[in-house]
Amino acid sequence: SKFLVTGANGFVAVWVIRALLEKGHAVRGTARSAKKGDYLRNIFKAYGDKFELVVVEDITEEGAFDDAVKGIDIVAHTASPFQFTAEDPDDFIVPAVKGTVGILEPTVQRVIVLSSASAIVSPFNIEPIVIYDENDWNETAYQVVEQQGKNAPVPFWYIASKTLAEKAAWDFVEKNKSDVNFDLTTLVPPLIFGPLIHEVHSASELNQSLTDFHDTLVKGIPNNFPELAHGFIDVRDLAEAHVRAAEVADAGGKRFIISGGSFHWQDIMDTAAKIQPPVVENFPKGTPGIGKPISNNFTLKTGRAEQTLGMKWRPLQDTIHDTLVAFKDKGFAY
Ligand code: NDP
Repeated sequence: SKFLVTGANGFVAVWVIRALLEKGHAVRGTARSAKKGDYLRNIFKAYGDKFELVVVEDITEEGAFDDAVKGIDIVAHTASPFQFTAEDPDDFIVPAVKGTVGILEPTVQRVIVLSSASAIVSPFNIEPIVIYDENDWNETAYQVVEQQGKNAPVPFWYIASKTLAEKAAWDFVEKNKSDVNFDLTTLVPPLIFGPLIHEVHSASELNQSLTDFHDTLVKGIPNNFPELAHGFIDVRDLAEAHVRAAEVADAGGKRFIISGGSFHWQDIMDTAAKIQPPVVENFPKGTPGIGKPISNNFTLKTGRAEQTLGMKWRPLQDTIHDTLVAFKDKGFAY
């Protein structure tokens, strides 16, 4: 099949493209400028003309993807703002929603939208034990942003954008049921870690989740929300989930949580401390042991992805190890 992968230069997208090419598929990537294509063409040169790159400057424009989508069977939509340097909630929400609805092109067979656990997990849930599955929606964060605008915390702007974008995709499909021939699949990952193969020249250019990882494990910056647990997924498992979401007929019309398990930032430090020989010297130790009681009470249920897509998950220790090795190779382990 021929795939379109939007936001081709991103951390996740480069792994998705590589997994698809490895399976023999053809991939057209989109990026916001031609310059971003040079690095990609170089790392994928072994696949010859199976990889190509097109420029889509502004995904919020009407018909932005009309040319890019010509001849495409399956779309994987990953492009979405995820830098907490934005100035207004709409800097997240408008490209996230318009980009997602705009990519729902009638001529393709399937559209895979990369959503986020932000669309499921409510930041206001203070129950001692929390368990989420694909029926859950985070109904709180976007309402806070609707009410408070710029006064809402900046991470909520992002959370709102991901929730509203995924909702808009499902609403579009529901409203246009009688005319759409494609089906929609959404993948819902929590924080994504793992080695990086996209173009990054310094630690300050890392995407948000690897910045958090780097801040905790290399710089020793204490986490802002010590009472919270999160889910994690290895970027390579998420790439594999994209391949399976495209290849498994039953994946159409479904939402899948794609998570390797739960963690607290202290668990990351504790797990890293057990890796022998150590990948990074003198990394911060925090307060060993305080994470587990918190992360043990947080569950993202992944039965659907295991049964329908046959997913298996890399353990956290492997992801931490491989992420640290990648940081070291790039000179970011300082
Ligand atoms: P990156 O920042 O590495 O990639 C983001 C991609 O989206 C880049 O190609 C970027 O292009 C593009 N993009 C950002 N803003 C816009 C915009 N306004 N218009 C067009 N393209 C845009 O991040 P990730 O790889 O981590 O994120 C990929 C996807 O995964 C996103 O949809 C994100 O929401 C989702 N996700 C990520 C998680 C994580 O932990 N990393 C967790 C859950 C979901 P450019 O380089 O030109 O800015």
